[in-house]
Amino acid sequence: MDFAAERSQINVDHKSLSSVAGQDVVVIGGGFGGLSTACYLADADANVTLIEKNKQLGGRASRLETDGFRFDMGPSWYLMPDVFERFFAHFDRDVEDYYTLSRLDPHYRIFFKDGDQVDLVPDVEQNKELFESYEPGAGEALEAYLKESKQNYEIGMEHFVYTDRPRFRDYMDLDVLRYSWGLSLIGSMQGHVEDYFDHPKLQQIMQYTLVFLGGSPYNTPALYNLMSHVDFNMGVYYPDGGIGAVVDGIVELGAELGVEYVTDQPVTEIAGRRGGFAVRTATGDEYLADLVVSDADYAHTEQELLPPEKRQYDADYWESRTYAPSAFLLYLGVEGDVEPLAHHTLVLPTEWDGHFEQIFDRPAWPDDPAYYLCVPSKTDDTVAPEGHSNLFALVPIAPGLDDTESLRAEYRDQVLEDIAANTGVDLRDRIVFERMFSVNDFADRYNSMKGTALGMAHTLRQTALFRPPHHSKAVDGLYFTGSYTTPGIGVPMCLISGQLTAEQMAD
Ligand SMILES: Cc1cc2nc3c(=O)[nH]c(=O)nc-3n(C[C@H](O)[C@H](O)[C@H](O)COP(=O)(O)OP(=O)(O)OC[C@H]3O[C@@H](n4cnc5c(N)ncnc54)[C@H](O)[C@@H]3O)c2cc1C
Repeated sequence: MDFAAERSQINVDHKSLSSVAGQDVVVIGGGFGGLSTACYLADADANVTLIEKNKQLGGRASRLETDGFRFDMGPSWYLMPDVFERFFAHFDRDVEDYYTLSRLDPHYRIFFKDGDQVDLVPDVEQNKELFESYEPGAGEALEAYLKESKQNYEIGMEHFVYTDRPRFRDYMDLDVLRYSWGLSLIGSMQGHVEDYFDHPKLQQIMQYTLVFLGGSPYNTPALYNLMSHVDFNMGVYYPDGGIGAVVDGIVELGAELGVEYVTDQPVTEIAGRRGGFAVRTATGDEYLADLVVSDADYAHTEQELLPPEKRQYDADYWESRTYAPSAFLLYLGVEGDVEPLAHHTLVLPTEWDGHFEQIFDRPAWPDDPAYYLCVPSKTDDTVAPEGHSNLFALVPIAPGLDDTESLRAEYRDQVLEDIAANTGVDLRDRIVFERMFSVNDFADRYNSMKGTALGMAHTLRQTALFRPPHHSKAVDGLYFTGSYTTPGIGVPMCLISGQLTAEQMAD
């Protein structure tokens, strides 16, 4: 069945980028933020070279391919289709010029660990009935919640996400105050959701999207209820070939616009050179530039690529930030199918505070994990050999957690047992390929601070103007993009950060 997806009208003008024409720019890091910035700059006739540490472009959205299985190693939820449409439209292209999308039905399935199971589907009326079945009046409450969430999304995207407000005084403006009026800015998501729903399972359903922001219901501002508009109203999509196909599309677009890509070359130093920069790599190569943009993790760029006098923040600053979770990831190729798992499945303990506590308050490998299972072979028969399924399990864990071979092996067994016990799918005797990826891999592969999977969490003190700036205050001509900057975490946000960074460079 085809369900009409909601689209929101966001009216924002692009600023002119013409002043970067002819400038030599080096972009460090080929995640979505770096790829996006490179496209905007090359389109404005800058000479752009993007240098990536790893063999693949895409950053956290790398791909693992082996024995006929293909895994997206990081992002797997394609949300906010309007942001991608808007991105490609800037370059007079359509999404369909690069990849095709299918809307998932169900959007996702939840197994509660008490044996209960629910599907969240594209049909809003069906979701209302589901809510009503848990609590009288919850169907209407869902409608009201989504109405508010839609309003927050539209105001938020137009006036705060696409419109960068890096300084406090940018908020001291009558128009901004007018737009902010009615936005649920104050309080935590926990309190906000409790205002609408009493049933703990309904509260969990409305809060799980916070995992995308790297927060918990207690430390994420209520404003982020806009995420419910994203998944309930706008829908959950799958790009054929997986998120890797989106990376390929944007890399191809960049090449068409003139971006030069250099891979497998870690940058080791950003040095000043005659009014510009010399960017040096581990292979001993040097790239001269008028302007530099880093999409590598902000803390790594500041602390390891710049000399101390050129850093905006000291080590204490980075040490004291609230980081989004790292993850324990288990990529599995298995024989046979994995009914009753859906393309996206969440497995949630009915009491999940313990898991959040073991991420944010008392770091430890979660005793009773809340986790996510992704089975793209449900939708796409090119990602696993015939008669097989590809699947990954993602358990959010505390950043910086002790990560040893033996701890991983123990946890792997615990997770496989938990999947069997709570979904009925016992994978243990039919695994033909497996790979684990966790804290140390995030640190090694992406130079990620404390092995965080996502970067800086969206707590109130790390949102909007409180995130590190796009423009270095210590070095003229040095810029930052990607998830550490505004608007923040997630593929769509990183695409937008590319636009905001390019606009600041052209200011
Ligand atoms: C497991 C997981 C699941 C996720 N799920 C989703 C999801 O479903 N939907 C969603 O929208 N988002 C999801 N995200 C978040 C999303 O993937 C990220 O927010 C986004 O991809 C980050 O992009 P970025 O531009 O910040 O850069 P990154 O992807 O972090 O890329 C930075 C790049 O810089 C490179 N680099 C680092 N140091 C150097 C150096 N010295 N020299 C050269 N290059 C360097 C790194 O190798 C990397 O390629 C997920 C992330 C993870 C890890």
